Amino acid sequence: SSLPPPRTRIFKIIVIGDSGVGKTCLTYRFCAGKFPDKTEATIGVDFRERVIEIDGEKIKVQLWDTAGQERFRKSMVQHYYRNVHAVVFVYDVTNAASFQSLPAWIEECRLHALGQEVPRILVGNKCDLRHSAQVNTDVAQQFADTHSMPLFETSAKSPLGNDNRQQCNADHVEAIF
Ligand code: GDP
Ligand code: MG
Repeated sequence: SSLPPPRTRIFKIIVIGDSGVGKTCLTYRFCAGKFPDKTEATIGVDFRERVIEIDGEKIKVQLWDTAGQERFRKSMVQHYYRNVHAVVFVYDVTNAASFQSLPAWIEECRLHALGQEVPRILVGNKCDLRHSAQVNTDVAQQFADTHSMPLFETSAKSPLGNDNRQQCNADHVEAIF
């Protein structure tokens, strides 16, 4: 007897952070392999997916990025936070306010049962603009440690930025997801 082939497993990853930090660009980079030519502000939810292979098994990685508008939130928020396998918190290294928003995003996830028991990572994006960085790596690392998350500094845009402490390039986006 022959069994039907196993269904492709789906990993749902939500990408969370203030508007403008680069969530759409990061997910685009991962799924399309490049920086988008132009981006429009996400209305509602941006959804992208890519099939990857892990240990010979094909896995469908679904990335959800929300704009977080009030109207969207009321109707969609439950759906958005359902069946999540991992959470990516994103801030913009050139925007201190986006870093300061992180506790609120972390709390919002926790309220939807996405606390420490779910894999969570912290991403500082736009480090190609490191010269105008407002968020110090040490401070970010300390914050990540406090919340038991690994920190990745990266750029969705450009394979620039040779920081010898941390890899910082577009290829690194691969490692994040
Ligand atoms: P979102 O609101 O978090 O989805 O942010 P977007 O992905 O729409 O990006 C917001 C803006 O930041 C856009 O103008 C992007 O071109 C820009 N951006 C995104 N990622 C990077 C990056 O890694 N480096 C630079 N320099 N700009 C970026
Ligand atoms: Mg977006």
